[in-house]
Amino acid sequence: MSTANIGHFIAGRTVAGASGRAQDVFNPATGAVSGQVALANSSEVSAAIAAAQAAFPAWADTPPLRRARVMFKFLELLNHHKDDLARLITAEHGKVFTDAQGEVSRGIDIVEFACGIPQLLKGDFTDQVSTGMDNWTLRQPLGVVAGITPFNFPVMVPMWMFPVAIAAGNTFILKPSPTDPSPSLLMAELLKQAGLPDGVFNVVQGDKAAVDALLEHPDVKAISFVGSTPIANYIYETGARQGKRVQALGGAKNHMVVMPDADLEQAVDGLIGAAYGSAGERCMAISVAVLVGDVADRIMPKLIERAQSLKIKNGLELDAEMGPIVTGIAHQRITGYIEQGVKEGAKLLVDGRSFKGSAAGAGCDKGFWMGGTLFDQVTPDMTIYKEEIFGPVHSCVRVPDFATAVQLVNDHEFGNGVACYTRDGHVAREFARRIQVGMVGINVPIPVPMAWHGFGGWKRSLFGDMHAYGEEGVRFYTKQKSIMQRWPESIGKGAEFVMPTAK
Ligand code: NAD
Repeated sequence: MSTANIGHFIAGRTVAGASGRAQDVFNPATGAVSGQVALANSSEVSAAIAAAQAAFPAWADTPPLRRARVMFKFLELLNHHKDDLARLITAEHGKVFTDAQGEVSRGIDIVEFACGIPQLLKGDFTDQVSTGMDNWTLRQPLGVVAGITPFNFPVMVPMWMFPVAIAAGNTFILKPSPTDPSPSLLMAELLKQAGLPDGVFNVVQGDKAAVDALLEHPDVKAISFVGSTPIANYIYETGARQGKRVQALGGAKNHMVVMPDADLEQAVDGLIGAAYGSAGERCMAISVAVLVGDVADRIMPKLIERAQSLKIKNGLELDAEMGPIVTGIAHQRITGYIEQGVKEGAKLLVDGRSFKGSAAGAGCDKGFWMGGTLFDQVTPDMTIYKEEIFGPVHSCVRVPDFATAVQLVNDHEFGNGVACYTRDGHVAREFARRIQVGMVGINVPIPVPMAWHGFGGWKRSLFGDMHAYGEEGVRFYTKQKSIMQRWPESIGKGAEFVMPTAK
């Protein structure tokens, strides 16, 4: 069977890889190789940066309203091609098609937000800061900016970045994950069809070599990164050393605290969906349930039953709840964590290792399949509690009271998302105020903020000052300029040697 060669998109056209390096792309459901993605070297990255640099002056000078009109057209095309993008996601990532559609929709939200760029870039003006003198601020684009994105949201996470960056007048280079590279090229094609000038949006496929070339190049003014914490830390430190603006979003270990007064049916639905949806390969997945008081004994039979009855199928089946693991390597890593959990004394209630691909559908026997895993009696010193597993492995920790639950969450090195299920308004309020986590859900398991609120964790889940998208995103991709102006008629006579003050 022939497989696709997946190349770059530079200066408005697809370009085959020239480095001589490439990586296999898999269909995780079948385990078959579906393509080879090019891995850029530094001269290919330089070509993309040169194209973006050449396109920058004219694009930055284009009135925001006209840039917004390109975004409106892109939005229309995205809505038309939503299922095409979702199919590409399922084919290379494995997540179920309905979830992939949801991912594209959440990306589209950001494009809708970016359509409002004229309003978002509106500056401030003060009339008469001194006699005959006015002062105003405006925000201008940075230049060439880059986005380095993870495998788990190949459409949504790039769209956290480029719609806002481009609408604000920057030119953009996307370095997607080589694990599922194809959606990036369809997005590039749709942007071109929407009328985006060549060179404003470019894609370089690649690995560390491409990332390092972006980090080192003086013409790249800002880097947005989303991925695992060790790489986020590296990107932040290296980019900052090179004088770049950097926002680097990292890994997670999201807890859901279930209080004794919570509606247990709702809590079970929330936990099961957030733990096993997308096979746990979400930065906002709930991987730890913190069961307060007597909740554990009441909820555990329901969790076991639901974890055992997940509909695990090829993601293209519309009733599938969970698809395969993204790669064979990830499958091995997750299996290793399950072994480690058993060794360290956690109680294995449901063992996903026994699930076989043949049960997922025809042709799936060689795919990267695993069932949902459920551990009870997990304690904070265990590896499966401390580290991000990024798979369908759910840990339950039992705590006596609310204060212990809050302390547990606050002591964890990650602080991306968290949830609390309760019917008590005071508990909910205290939780939201005291918790050291960037995104909080009250009876909401996956509180991914809407487009205009911005997305970002705390602690080692985010390196940098600003969150992705929303107004923080606009600030990240622009620099503020302050202008003071007066005209000859209002200028007094003589040089002034004291600090100017209002007159
Ligand atoms: P990853 O860190 O392996 O890769 C992310 C990006 O960095 C990819 O483009 C990859 O090619 C590149 N990269 C990998 N190794 C590199 C290296 N040594 N030097 C330079 N670049 C390198 O992450 P992943 O496995 O693709 O994605 C899963 C991770 O992303 C999880 O940790 C998850 O929590 C995290 N994530 C976080 C968020 C968030 O918003 N905080 C969102 C989605 C995913």
